[in-house]
Amino acid sequence: MNKSKRRTVLAGNWKMNKTSSEAKALIEELMPAVERADCEVVICVPFTDIAIAVALCEGGNIAVGAQNCHFEESGAYTGEISASMLVEAGVTHVIIGHSERRQYFGETDSTVNLRAKKAISKGLIAIVCVGELLEERENGTTEEVLTRQVNAALADMTSDDIKNVIIAYEPVWAIGTGKTASSDQADEACGFIRGLVEKLFDKDVAEALTIQYGGSMNPSNADELLSKENVDGGLIGGASLKAADFKSLVDAASK
Ligand code: PEP
Repeated sequence: MNKSKRRTVLAGNWKMNKTSSEAKALIEELMPAVERADCEVVICVPFTDIAIAVALCEGGNIAVGAQNCHFEESGAYTGEISASMLVEAGVTHVIIGHSERRQYFGETDSTVNLRAKKAISKGLIAIVCVGELLEERENGTTEEVLTRQVNAALADMTSDDIKNVIIAYEPVWAIGTGKTASSDQADEACGFIRGLVEKLFDKDVAEALTIQYGGSMNPSNADELLSKENVDGGLIGGASLKAADFKSLVDAASK
């Protein structure tokens, strides 16, 4: 299978931005701007924006995602949200293991695996984030880190489960820094991840998997990054918060 047969997915990660009224205004601008997209478009919004986002996106071509979910079904987990809650709220995608969750909220390779499995078991698409720190790239351990993260994140999954997984390769040094991986670095890392998935499953599973790049993707570097054979879309932070920028990225991913 080549790139043109894989699903290209452009997902916005709004992080902790946009109150509900701000979300409404942005979505109203986005809906017409991306209505002709020739890729899958997702906005991963804060929990408090889910209801308004689902209502506004109904019947359109923007899917609504969340930014985390817990691995237990329900219970005494103050501040957490379950996968079933997301499904009932109309969410279809959920980001799992974003580097900010790993860095600030104690997310580990093993909780990433638990959360992803729970999300998939409820029919959600898990956007699983992996990526090396700057010091890891500089000391030449990028592949080691990616191997550990991918093997752990996908542990105990079946090839059917993988149909509901997207992997986002996000070098931590490129997130929110304005420093982008070069298109060759992004392609190489996404290709390396595809090779890991082939070893864990088989060639068909690996070839069908959507692997996004994330890290300061913007209207001026998107064309080049998205043209790469192993880059099947993007996970977008900053540039997903302005309709015009996000539209440019969706247009680039639609080519
Ligand atoms: C992200 O948060 O996943 C991300 C890639 O952010 P930014 O595009 O702002 O680097």
